Amino acid sequence: MTETREVIIVGSGPAGLTAAIYSARANLAPLVIEGEPSSTSDQPGGQLMLTTDVENYPGFPDGIMGPELMVNFRAQAERFGAEIVTDKVTRIDFSSRPFGVWIGDPDATEPSYRATSLIISTGAQSLMLGIDNETRLIGHGVSTCATCDGFFFRDQHIAVIGGGDSAIEEASFLTRFADKVTLIHRRDELRASKIMQQRAFDNTKIEFLWNHVVERIDGENSLTGIGVRNVTDDRRSDLDVTGLFVAIGHRPNTGLFIGQLDMAESGYLVTAPDSTRTNVEGVYACGDVQDDYFRQAITAAGSGCMAAIEAERWLESL
Ligand code: NAP
Repeated sequence: MTETREVIIVGSGPAGLTAAIYSARANLAPLVIEGEPSSTSDQPGGQLMLTTDVENYPGFPDGIMGPELMVNFRAQAERFGAEIVTDKVTRIDFSSRPFGVWIGDPDATEPSYRATSLIISTGAQSLMLGIDNETRLIGHGVSTCATCDGFFFRDQHIAVIGGGDSAIEEASFLTRFADKVTLIHRRDELRASKIMQQRAFDNTKIEFLWNHVVERIDGENSLTGIGVRNVTDDRRSDLDVTGLFVAIGHRPNTGLFIGQLDMAESGYLVTAPDSTRTNVEGVYACGDVQDDYFRQAITAAGSGCMAAIEAERWLESL
């Protein structure tokens, strides 16, 4: 017989584990299916596992390392009875309740678990360039979040990659700290909205390197420079930056939900206003999988709390 749980949480970043803490303390004995390490950028614990110092999570006046913060989240959830399974969900059947949840073979006739309510917190991934040293130096000069890491680059020369609104926003924000920001874009025209473009053109600390791509990331323990190539004439040059912010977009982890849960064109799950409710009754979504705007650990944790409370009240009403 497949076990039926009142709450199953899929994903174990700040959103999922906060949902686990709240639903465990509401005596719902949640099961967290935390994911499985499959690559450096896809592992249980979410994006904070790739971060070094976290200085903006309230409650830690001296900062805390990202992975240590996630170990604490996990221990706190387990302390109240959350059960954590290290595996990947391969299929969910949202068509009837209790919902079927598969790990392992998605074609198995019986699901591995059934859940009366589901909390989806599978997060999002920053798109990366995919070149050597990039992932290894995340938190050591390479970053995907100016809000999180800009502060560490006071009076330094920083490069930002991308030509969309994110890149412009990151570059503009970084000028608060950096001496100089070089925005490297692979074309000679930005994709960003005109108003954001103008803001960047007016900012004397931002320099544009058009028609260039990053080919090399240097540094043993921390970033010491990058190698770029002009795509129009293939000329190569070096840039002595100590910070590299990759801002070429994000991809929410929503492949499992295509055709089952409402999502925006960008792939992010759609939730009701001021709520974590999805279009399927009993299914809640929290954290970066439904947030393409704030993308912060604290906002993810906040929405995880909301999802747990909404699920609990809904279960109570049944
Ligand atoms: P985006 O609009 O998809 O832009 C990605 C940028 O990265 C593009 O300029 C693209 O170049 C470049 N890029 C992609 N892959 C690359 C690669 N491998 N190497 C080098 N460059 C690469 O993503 P986004 O900027 O994250 O924005 C996503 C959405 O959020 C957009 O709808 C945006 O308007 C919105 N947003 C809004 C705000 C705001 O209004 N404040 C802030 C952030 C984001 P090409 O241009 O050549 O394709």
